[in-house]
Amino acid sequence: MRMSVLVTGGAGYIGSHMVLELLDAGERVIILDDLSTGFRWVVPEGVPLIVGDTGDQTLVSRLIREYGIQAVIHFAGSLIVPDSVRDPLAYYRNNTVNSCALIESAVSCGVKQFIFSSTCAVYGTPTKIPVAEDAPTLPVSPYGSSKRMSEIILQDAGRAHGLDYVILRYFNVAGADPKGRAGQSTKAATQLIKVAVEAALGRRTHVEIFGNDYPTPDGTCIRDYIHVTDLARAHLDALRYLRSGGRSVTLNCGYGRGFSVLEVLDTVKRVSGVDFKVTMTTRRPGDPICIVAATDFIRQTLDWQPQFDDLSTVVAHALRWERALGHESARLDLDSRRGTA
Ligand code: UDP
Repeated sequence: MRMSVLVTGGAGYIGSHMVLELLDAGERVIILDDLSTGFRWVVPEGVPLIVGDTGDQTLVSRLIREYGIQAVIHFAGSLIVPDSVRDPLAYYRNNTVNSCALIESAVSCGVKQFIFSSTCAVYGTPTKIPVAEDAPTLPVSPYGSSKRMSEIILQDAGRAHGLDYVILRYFNVAGADPKGRAGQSTKAATQLIKVAVEAALGRRTHVEIFGNDYPTPDGTCIRDYIHVTDLARAHLDALRYLRSGGRSVTLNCGYGRGFSVLEVLDTVKRVSGVDFKVTMTTRRPGDPICIVAATDFIRQTLDWQPQFDDLSTVVAHALRWERALGHESARLDLDSRRGTA
């Protein structure tokens, strides 16, 4: 039987880019997604989509056997920091408990490689910037804690049961497929670049800046924004690394350069040519002040060569997708009113 890669959350934003990256590389892909935030229409033709829960061990074990799954790339999870502050138990259940169940299924069914979506939120507010992988993990949100706990489970299970893994700690993911095949379609998204491109296209009245009294040069928070296609590529490189006998590792995945909220908004205004309205409001709970990746370890370990390390390019791709999404939703809306969708 031909071996397959299981992508959990493959109907979501980052997962859908991963699926394209794997297909482009000639891999066979199976998607498991509960469609809570993902969309059926992003799944490319011919790719099996199983609608279900990563914590459903009966289902997952059946999929692993049926499709001959050797590698799991696990994206499915909840990822909104302020939501996790409001509803921590939902985050621990969906992120930590379900990941534990999925890892257990992978171990018991003999999966060989496991790649896990983690986050720079595991560091909290680091004291040293750029932050390296061996910095203390002191998450300041339940989201960060839920991911850190999953990392520990995977590290321990990997060691005990010979499951090889790569944990990728994502910094701030943005942009869209450069060929225009995928992008961030999430409704009511909260991520800065997504929010700003929506404002540039008149889909929001304005953008609020959550705090301009931080101890940074312009008073707004600093983040390391990485293009989603470079991130997906890092997963493919991680899979190849493990397949060729690389040892299990935890790697930062960012570019190593920080931009403030104001710098991001200026870039979106410049690239879009629209001077949308920006207002100041209070700090958002759970926000670290500044976080930028140390990238030496990922560059040494994987053969990862980012291609879109340029904020204007990230924003341009996000804008192009947002425009296409507007046309698509107008068409779908029209079709459904005509009863043809
Ligand atoms: N941010 C903001 N206004 C928004 C969305 C985000 O000022 O409408 C800020 C947020 O406080 C943080 C940065 O932009 O400092 C990045 O936030 P995002 O939600 O994109 O990602 P996070 O870093 O929370 O994962």
